[in-house]
Amino acid sequence: MTILHRLRPARRANEAVGEGLSPGERAAMIGAAASKLAELFDVLHVDHRNDHNTRETPSRVARMFVDEIMHGRFAAPPALTEFDNVEAFDQLIVIGPIDVRSTCAHHLMPIYGEAFLGVLPSADGKVIGLSKYDRIVDHFSGRLQIQEELTKQIGQFIMDKTEPRGVAVRISAVHMCKTHRGVRASHRSRMITSAYFGTLAEDPARKDEFLRECAGLAQTA
Ligand SMILES: [Zn+2]
Repeated sequence: MTILHRLRPARRANEAVGEGLSPGERAAMIGAAASKLAELFDVLHVDHRNDHNTRETPSRVARMFVDEIMHGRFAAPPALTEFDNVEAFDQLIVIGPIDVRSTCAHHLMPIYGEAFLGVLPSADGKVIGLSKYDRIVDHFSGRLQIQEELTKQIGQFIMDKTEPRGVAVRISAVHMCKTHRGVRASHRSRMITSAYFGTLAEDPARKDEFLRECAGLAQTA
């Protein structure tokens, strides 16, 4: 598979392998994936050559994997617009709910829910545009994930790129590998994960403040 040579090797499905595919590389990847999906359909006795419902499904699903389900693996992380923190605002900022649409690395089933982010800026640092937080969540969700690692990846990225005093990430999500198969749990059954960085990891009062704000935002949503 020549198109893969340029991409960096990654052992984990939720690690990036590239910083943007060229149109040719994207087309080659989709084409190669489509022919493997066609093989899978053959194995499962789905007659995609003659059945009008599944005729285009291998290429449709291949495109979906490359462009949507796993887009955050092949694309560069969102570029962050930084603004000077002119008023030296240093209090907790809480953002959410931000929709989470991801895919479970164990079963390839959807994970969907909401993320809440807490950022404790440093008075002499930078702040980033509000919509960038949605883009960051979308970027890391666009990989085969487990929720715990998704939560940490989002927080670590914000820490590394914007150097605030602290970051908190809380995700509440439904895992369709649990509701649609396996134990067939209720669609109301959720999993909550949190990750704390910097001051937010060390200061219980700040953590409480974050959780209170999350509860308020979840209620008004
Ligand atoms: Zn799963």
